[in-house]
Amino acid sequence: ETPEKRDFIRQIVREDLASGKHTAIRTRFPPEPNGYLHIGHAKAICLDFGIAEEFGGRCNLRFDDTNPAKEDPEFVRAIQEDVRWLGFEWASLRHASDYFEVYYLAAEKLIRDGKAYVCDLSPEQVREYRGTLTEPGRESPYRNRSVEENLDLFRRMRAGEFPEGSRTLRAKIDMASGNMNLRDPALYRIKHMPHPIAGDGWCIYPMYDFAHALGDAIEGITHSLCTLEFEDHRPLYDWCVDNVDLAGHPELLEPLKAKGLPIEAAKPRQIEFSRLNINYTVMSKRKLTQLVAEGLVDGWDDPRMYTLQGLRRRGYTPASLRMLVDRVGISKQNSVIDFSVLEGCLREDLDARAPRRLAVLDPLKLVITNLPEDHEEQLTFANHPKDESLGQRLVPFSRELWIERDDFAEVPPKGFKRLVPGGEVRLRGAGIFRCDEVVKDQAGNVVELRGWLDPESRPGMEGANRKVKGTIHWVSARHAVAAEVRLYDRLFTVPDPDAGEDGRTYRDYINPDSRRIVTGYVEPAAAAAEPEQSFQFERLGYFVADRYDHAPGRPVFNRSVTLRDTWAG
Ligand code: ATP
Ligand code: MG
Ligand code: MG
Repeated sequence: ETPEKRDFIRQIVREDLASGKHTAIRTRFPPEPNGYLHIGHAKAICLDFGIAEEFGGRCNLRFDDTNPAKEDPEFVRAIQEDVRWLGFEWASLRHASDYFEVYYLAAEKLIRDGKAYVCDLSPEQVREYRGTLTEPGRESPYRNRSVEENLDLFRRMRAGEFPEGSRTLRAKIDMASGNMNLRDPALYRIKHMPHPIAGDGWCIYPMYDFAHALGDAIEGITHSLCTLEFEDHRPLYDWCVDNVDLAGHPELLEPLKAKGLPIEAAKPRQIEFSRLNINYTVMSKRKLTQLVAEGLVDGWDDPRMYTLQGLRRRGYTPASLRMLVDRVGISKQNSVIDFSVLEGCLREDLDARAPRRLAVLDPLKLVITNLPEDHEEQLTFANHPKDESLGQRLVPFSRELWIERDDFAEVPPKGFKRLVPGGEVRLRGAGIFRCDEVVKDQAGNVVELRGWLDPESRPGMEGANRKVKGTIHWVSARHAVAAEVRLYDRLFTVPDPDAGEDGRTYRDYINPDSRRIVTGYVEPAAAAAEPEQSFQFERLGYFVADRYDHAPGRPVFNRSVTLRDTWAG
């Protein structure tokens, strides 16, 4: 399959280019800067930027900052970082607030054309007049004001003469429409609040549908891609674009010149696709905000969070998220993706690319009695079993090692393939070890294993071919570096934490074992990692050096994902 045929949207884009409807493709990714981006946004980003990239077009990053109450520059900064981290670059960075003056002129034009009016109904009355799905709405008593009166009132709204909630500007469409969005929707409301970017020049703000449609038209967006919940808004989107008709009224775009913004007006087409949903997560900004506010996680970038900042800190790679979006595909069918698909993408990416390292998370001392006290050598290990280009490293080896406590069993369960008293096991890359003595403390806990390393069993030697049940990993006790290791798991214990049976909410399904912190020992080459470097710790899983807390010599690792899907549900 060629990339451009991959889904119905790419199909439309291809046809629009073939038919000459468009000579160039323009898309945009339009986040509202009222929170951090989550994994769902990755789907929209990969689609908006991906299509522009594949078809030689341009994609803008536009902050839909029309609600001054909810916006924060910290979100604006983080969103830009996230888009770049995913591997995309915008053609132009815009804010809907760049267009406030154009929106205003467009609204006056609608008034002059008799297509918009100032309405004095209170919000409750507006709701009452709107009607229901089965009953038509009633027309506002202010619907037939003259153009002059409407213009005068609208200008006075802008001048700040009226209190919040006392008036709105509404589109004059159809109070009997079967589509509630067309029952004279509000275009502007009064809000006495300065705007973080536009400053204190405004006390009326455009509504989302109006601003979004015109923003797209202003930027010459050809394909305006959005999620399915906007399907019912499409007639209003088209109404705004068609009735304002920016392409036919260049005078409305004059304010852009003063701002030095290019004029690109064209008629955009809105196309909807289904949202990305993944089980065992919550994804709306509102709920992610609550998790942080209520202290259920450590912050927006807690590695258990489904924000892009959180996933990044957990060790998710841009390639793994792009792989997920590709695998899920684009359609109009709503579906819920299994969490294991997300984890599978990360494993696949890291299996191919992450260097291997040795680390022990639950240490038990192992002493090789036939090596001298001061024995020390450097063993050569391949960094990757399937990719020689990742090179080799030296791993220090000595008389005393740390192994995993659960790689030894005094009384082995059935099928146990690792070390038992008197038994043999292969020490990864070092030879075959026989356990001769089990040392215990007064309480009867095993504190040390002592035994013999067969000197003829080094990898490559004849003696290494002897059949031994298991191979275990180790680190040299004298050379290993103590590391803080954060063992993360799914944040929720149930597939649909939102289902909320018996009045329960997602808060009641937090996985108490979603984070466990242990002190482990890592080989020196792991301790020397740079922040955000990913490794496979052999036999344990994929780990990333923490973006903020790790420093070479003071290692902090986050478990990104285990080697296999071990979720017990
Ligand atoms: P949420 O309601 O989940 O907090 P939002 O839709 O309010 O998200 P916006 O900032 O408005 O967040 O979203 C920017 C773009 O990302 C929109 O085009 C939106 O449709 C898209 N988007 C948001 N969530 C998802 C999702 N789960 N899957 C795909 N696209 C999404
Ligand atoms: Mg939104
Ligand atoms: Mg939202």
